[in-house]
Amino acid sequence: MEKEQKQFYERLEQKGVSRRDFMKFCTFLTATMGLSSSFVPKVAEVFAAPSQRPPVVWLHFAECTGCSESVLRSMYPWIDELVLDILSIEYHETIMAAAGHQAEENLQMAMKKYAGKFICVCEGGVATKYDGGWGKVGGQTFLEIARDVVPKAAATITIGNCSSFGGIQAAAPNPGGYVSVEKATGVKTLKIAGCPPNPVNFVGTVVNYLLLGKLPALDELGRPLFAYGKTIHDQCPRRAHFENDEMVTEFGSEEAAMGYCLYQVGCKGPETYNNCPVVKFNDGTSWPVEAGHPCIGCSEPNFWDTMTPFYEEL
Ligand code: SF4
Ligand code: SF4
Repeated sequence: MEKEQKQFYERLEQKGVSRRDFMKFCTFLTATMGLSSSFVPKVAEVFAAPSQRPPVVWLHFAECTGCSESVLRSMYPWIDELVLDILSIEYHETIMAAAGHQAEENLQMAMKKYAGKFICVCEGGVATKYDGGWGKVGGQTFLEIARDVVPKAAATITIGNCSSFGGIQAAAPNPGGYVSVEKATGVKTLKIAGCPPNPVNFVGTVVNYLLLGKLPALDELGRPLFAYGKTIHDQCPRRAHFENDEMVTEFGSEEAAMGYCLYQVGCKGPETYNNCPVVKFNDGTSWPVEAGHPCIGCSEPNFWDTMTPFYEEL
């Protein structure tokens, strides 16, 4: 274990990441997961000397691949490699080297070898009308693939609004009959909701699984409570302006420059559960409301229908 940890820190150093930076990330992740600071060394150990690397089958349905991008690219540049180090990715259409029949063989082999043991991660909504004919991979419809793979997994994580709730393709009039993976398969899924979802919430869920041997506690929609337990509004730094009725009524105005509340220009923060104000995006740089844009409610079911028009008051 010690040797493994030493090699891990040497690898990090070669990437220009100090042990201090890494521990800072682990402290941030531990706090996000709602664990006490005494867990920080244990969280670091999950990355530095993983005792298990669960097999993962990552499926793509109707989506933009933004959720994969969000996990693998836009965070601290070295975290993507850490995530790939602690998971054994057996099938992922965007990043695997195999293509065509070979790729499909990999999927079949992984399902057979790890039946009941692999984690399935799904991105994208599933078309159900016309026998699912609106979306296919390797000659099989999304519906067939989802119904074949998901029930064989130990657990399924749906990442993003599309796989969790249907997403934009499920918005009215929804001609393809798109639904969430849960609805398409009848199997309960853990939902990392958002458009895009925050990669920290995905990493926190995986680390929770590796550290404590179970998935985190969920809300009634299947979202981890550590990330989706509070509304944007309850954590928003503009909240005092809301209480004082100090409102932005026009973008580009003096009130907007003073950071007043965005409720009247469409902010859906009071009805949206997510941890964006605390975790933020792009290496913790900022998040939509901090940048002056209202929350559009992207982590809620059917937000394309229920939260629109985006620039009108709730
Ligand atoms: S900007 Fe949105 S989330 Fe923040 S206080 Fe105003 S309404 Fe609430
Ligand atoms: S601020 Fe609202 S719309 Fe923006 S990412 Fe967070 S939950 Fe989604």
